[in-house]
Order: sequence, then structure tokens, then C-alpha cells
Amino acid sequence: MTRLGGTNKVNHVICRRCGRKTYNPDKGYCSHCGFGRSSKIRAYVWSYKFKRKW
Ligand SMILES: [Zn+2]
Repeated sequence: MTRLGGTNKVNHVICRRCGRKTYNPDKGYCSHCGFGRSSKIRAYVWSYKFKRKW
């Protein structure tokens, strides 16, 4: 863990659904796939390939 400038706050952790480090425990959802905010996977164009893979 790095402690630079006294900042030890983790803004993004590994998302359970998309596996990316984009889950925000503060907001309670993943900024990549929308996990936690909606039961549906965010349907952005750039995420279609992810939906297909999963
Ligand atoms: Zn996610």
C-alpha cells in the first residue's frame, strides 16, 4: 500500500462482476459495468464485447 500525501483512501476495488478495478465502495457501484447501481449491465457500445465474453 502506498501512503503518499497521507491519502490512504481506496476509491476503486476489484469489481466482482467485470473483474476491473472500478468498483467504488463509497458510491456502492462499479463505474465500469454499473454493478451495484443497476441489475442490468451498462449497455455502452464499448462494453458489448465484454457482455459477449461473459
Ligand atoms: Zn464492474
